[in-house]
Amino acid sequence: EQSPFIGREAVAAKRKQYFYPCTAHFYRDAPQIVRGSMQYVYDENGKEYTDFFAGVSVVACGHCNPAITARTIEQLQQLQHTSTVYLTQPNVDLAERLEAVLPGRLRRSFFVNSGSEANEGALLLARMHTGRKGFIALESGLHGRTNLTMSVTGLQMWRTDKYLDEDVTFIERPYHPELSLEEAAARSVQSLKRVLEEKGDSIAAMIVEPIQGNGGMIMPAPSYFREVKTLLEQYGVLLIDDEIQTGYGRTGAMFAIEHFGVVPDIISMAKALGNGVPVAAFATTDEIAASLNRPSASTFGGNPVSAATALAVLDYIENERLPERAAELGGHLKRGLQQLQASYPALISDVRGTGFMLGAELTGNAAVTAAELTDDVLEEMKDRGYLIGKNGVNRNVLAFQPPLVVTAENIEGMLTVLNDVLLQASQKLSAAVPAE
Ligand code: PMP
Repeated sequence: EQSPFIGREAVAAKRKQYFYPCTAHFYRDAPQIVRGSMQYVYDENGKEYTDFFAGVSVVACGHCNPAITARTIEQLQQLQHTSTVYLTQPNVDLAERLEAVLPGRLRRSFFVNSGSEANEGALLLARMHTGRKGFIALESGLHGRTNLTMSVTGLQMWRTDKYLDEDVTFIERPYHPELSLEEAAARSVQSLKRVLEEKGDSIAAMIVEPIQGNGGMIMPAPSYFREVKTLLEQYGVLLIDDEIQTGYGRTGAMFAIEHFGVVPDIISMAKALGNGVPVAAFATTDEIAASLNRPSASTFGGNPVSAATALAVLDYIENERLPERAAELGGHLKRGLQQLQASYPALISDVRGTGFMLGAELTGNAAVTAAELTDDVLEEMKDRGYLIGKNGVNRNVLAFQPPLVVTAENIEGMLTVLNDVLLQASQKLSAAVPAE
């Protein structure tokens, strides 16, 4: 029987020939994924991989989850798309549903199609509401690839510095390898204070990820966002909470900002809201929403298929109690990673995050970089049937952000293999001590 797939080498060659040369590299030998089922994906040869990456926090409810895809298909067959000039029910139901889970008085949703577009809308909204142009953002944050969202992105690898001319001031992130989280938070708050004293009256908003994803799973000290919010309010600056990677249960709360006891002014959502179908939104209060008086429509934003899918996603998250599951099993995974850190203290310098938003930072030496060791681990884990991620300023943080449906057995299995793979990496590290 002839395989319907051309195979990974052929796919890689086509990518090289027809995509832009800058197309991101992640694996040395990326697998070709042809099928997914809940926490598993399969390559063209039928090899199974347990997914601990979920396409960067996207398929939180599992690949091709039948409870969700059934409703997507039903909607596709009923009504796929129509203009926003007509009334349709799925998007108003979705907005109502979001209002029930959003914190504080956040009530109104504007639907778009991607995380970048949600943040773009949130940033514009903040400008229109405050009548100010400037933004504050954190070093090592990531907010998107449009001009404005790239301008507030601190991570160097996601910026094209030369062409960004927006009015953005970056402040220190609330993390420093040599300081406690409390000390690092205090330093970040100090740098925020200095910026606000200097030009607070020209700043529309500060945009943050409550737990930085691509920046390396940076979870600030518990008091951090309360102090930030208090300061911002003194200067009339809005807080935009980018929950694109952290939202809808992954961290053990519906939104990660809830861990900090703060209600932001605007929340942006994307990724797992559609479990793989593009749907995104930015939500705010009645008062702030009134300031966005134009432009007011997005062709695909809140289309019936995306909206019906997001409703199915929110139902599934609620019915399966996925936030509770992420808190419990994520705690289990974190303890396992901490045990590995105790076994390989020279290799793993830090384990951090909460729920299923976890990172393990690796250390290198003068002869072998931490980024190289991270790539070794990623590649070997993949060969042995586990997909994990990597992130961080130096690309040396192993990222664990699985579909929230992974089981305790999946976690045990992954940790056992990871132990083997880290042993190899730590042997490479100790053998690589440079000659005197
Ligand atoms: N914000 C965060 C926190 C993200 O992680 C990302 C994507 N990695 C984005 C925004 C941009 O989202 P999108 O790729 O859907 O435009």
